[in-house]
Amino acid sequence: MKDSNFLKENNGRLMWHPMTSPQDSIDSPPKIITGSSGVSITDIDGHTVVDGVGGLWNVNLGYSCQPVKDAITDQLARLPYYSTFRGASNDAAIELSYELSAFFAPDGLSRAFFTSGGSDSVETALRLARQYHKLRGEPGRVKFLSLKKGYHGTHMGGASVNGNANFRTAYEPLLPGCYHIPAPYTYRNPFNETDPERLAQLCAAALEDEIAFQGPSTIAAMIMEPILGAGGVIPPHKSFAPMVRDICERNGILLITDEVITAYGRTGAWSGARLWGIQPDMMATAKAITNGYFPFGAVMLGDKMIEAFEDNPAARIGHGYTYSGHPVGAAAALACLAETKRLNVIENAAARGDQLYAGCKALMEKYDIIGDVRGGHGLMTAIEMVSDRATKKPIDADTAAKVQEVAYQSGAMIRVSGPNLILSPALILSEQDAATILAAIDAGFAAV
Ligand code: PMP
Repeated sequence: MKDSNFLKENNGRLMWHPMTSPQDSIDSPPKIITGSSGVSITDIDGHTVVDGVGGLWNVNLGYSCQPVKDAITDQLARLPYYSTFRGASNDAAIELSYELSAFFAPDGLSRAFFTSGGSDSVETALRLARQYHKLRGEPGRVKFLSLKKGYHGTHMGGASVNGNANFRTAYEPLLPGCYHIPAPYTYRNPFNETDPERLAQLCAAALEDEIAFQGPSTIAAMIMEPILGAGGVIPPHKSFAPMVRDICERNGILLITDEVITAYGRTGAWSGARLWGIQPDMMATAKAITNGYFPFGAVMLGDKMIEAFEDNPAARIGHGYTYSGHPVGAAAALACLAETKRLNVIENAAARGDQLYAGCKALMEKYDIIGDVRGGHGLMTAIEMVSDRATKKPIDADTAAKVQEVAYQSGAMIRVSGPNLILSPALILSEQDAATILAAIDAGFAAV
């Protein structure tokens, strides 16, 4: 490794970082992480903190998961790459599709299409949705519906269904035919509705209304996160997803759950679909599938898709990535799945999630800067920060950045995204680690 001065000097100068401006990377240099152990990370100056972000919602089993590391190195030694394009396959990808079919059987999903990450998975699901309708003789079903505040990655299709202007405006015009429904976001919504159950009904009614307006026969799919993640951890009322499922079903619209964050245990259930008791037609997954150690993803497919595509020579999939079914990614995913099941991570995710959620709620009593605390479903927790509780005026960026920095100096990496402080640590977090995160946030708020 080059010395610390070299790395610090060249970081912002030569590398454009995602989700920030090149100038900002120079003015507010990011933490340069050079080491890790368990659920903690160490920066280039030797400062070690508990990682409250869990990498980027993906390092569910922490940084020291030896079985996944071994699987990667073993696979690298044996077969570092082979494609799964027509005429070829590899053993790791086949084995993984077998394991995933079993894992997602309760979600009604029994086929896998492999990708290189979350955005790829979303893009794959959107494309296969259009093809599904063409195969079934409804070529006019091309539009997509999604929730405002939703995040579906950064490809052109994903950006088009994203529900946050920050990820859209600079890249417009996006895909035509994408329409957005109000999110079941109790803290702020156009209906001024504060009751989660009534809000869920209003959002579901808005969905029905949009479908009627567009014409059901023009809509291919609805894509939705079971709990909105990057938008600030927005869990809907438990009635919402079943209502959406039912509305899609009645209108011939495919339902895609974007579970790039929620699949594999983060919510305290094995998938977001299972958390809400629904079966999607497709599920986009990535991130924790390999514990973040290798870029990889899987779109899981349900009966409707299987029926339309299998035993049909016309159903040629004109889509795929060089790294679809990458053997090293597949080997990592196999080890990761085995470890995820062996540790039964959903139990700890639920317990530690409750601890963080309760701890953040307790902080709300102490600090007016906290406008809303959201969570209660596993290790997805957010604090929405405001500069005025009465008017809900969002916090300014400098104050939010200071909270983050002081928390970091006090022992925890946390993520600030807009007005939201987001916690998404490893699912193997201990009670003590969770307490460290809470104490660090407390210190951050105390400082401002
Ligand atoms: N969908 C959701 C719900 C996500 O949270 C993300 C990433 N945070 C993506 C898609 C995109 O995944 P990736 O960054 O791996 O492309």
